[in-house]
Amino acid sequence: MDQIYLNGSFLPRSEAQIPIMDRGFLFGDGVYELIPVFNKKVFLLEEHLKRLKNSLNLIQMNDIKGLDKIISTLIKKNTKNTFFIYLHITRGVQSSRNHIYSENIEPTILLMCEDYPSFSKNEIKQGFQATIQNDFRWMKSNIKSISLLGNVLLKNYASNNECYETLLMRDNRLTEGSTSNVFIVKDEIIYTPKLSNELLPGVTRGLLIKLLGQNNLKVIESDISQSDLINADEVWCSSSTNSVVPIIKVDNSIINDGKTGKISIKIYEIAQDFISDF
Ligand code: PLP
Repeated sequence: MDQIYLNGSFLPRSEAQIPIMDRGFLFGDGVYELIPVFNKKVFLLEEHLKRLKNSLNLIQMNDIKGLDKIISTLIKKNTKNTFFIYLHITRGVQSSRNHIYSENIEPTILLMCEDYPSFSKNEIKQGFQATIQNDFRWMKSNIKSISLLGNVLLKNYASNNECYETLLMRDNRLTEGSTSNVFIVKDEIIYTPKLSNELLPGVTRGLLIKLLGQNNLKVIESDISQSDLINADEVWCSSSTNSVVPIIKVDNSIINDGKTGKISIKIYEIAQDFISDF
């Protein structure tokens, strides 16, 4: 996992350096993707590159060509079979620290491999706890921005409270988790917040909606209130790191008598099969 890609070169991680005038370092001015690689095969690459293009576009940066070739070289250069590619693009290095960006600077492009910290099937079956917080982040959470301070504080809030995730409410609407999208089940119908500028269009969210539909499970994209959330029959979080993470307790509210629900387990297994067959 030692070889990384930085601005045109493959080199050991320990030798890579970023200038202090990089706008990513000074302003968090950039976007990223986390792309799973299973058995040396990149998972849903097209979907990740499409979202990256959209994030770049939303921060007025041009699309970056040739990333697929860099990714396949990086996979060959690394010995592990299953890991993540962390792809990080900043607006680049500018000679003075100025909020106003120069139009003619070159983007900084970094790709590196990271371990895949997924839960075991037993952990998934046991379920996890979550907590609710106000979504105090900015109003462009659909951009996969490297400015992650809000998400960092919210994920640490979960961790400090022995929870897997912090579920975020804005004006009594569930938006997402600090590092995941959220689904709930009520009376066998599945609900997830509809896409907007308030949440990331998760690649896994899109995959699960497709797989649920193919398995005759109805999904409705709609507003979910705090009361809907804590009174749900099932709740799960989705992300590229862990496709389905069942939640069995939200603060003091016990979900499904503290047991992982049957639809959560079913979609977890469907997603695992899809990954194995990929
Ligand atoms: N929402 C946030 C805030 C995230 O950070 C993530 C993943 O990192 C997700 C949702 C899930 O996105 P994906 O399924 O593309 O990993």
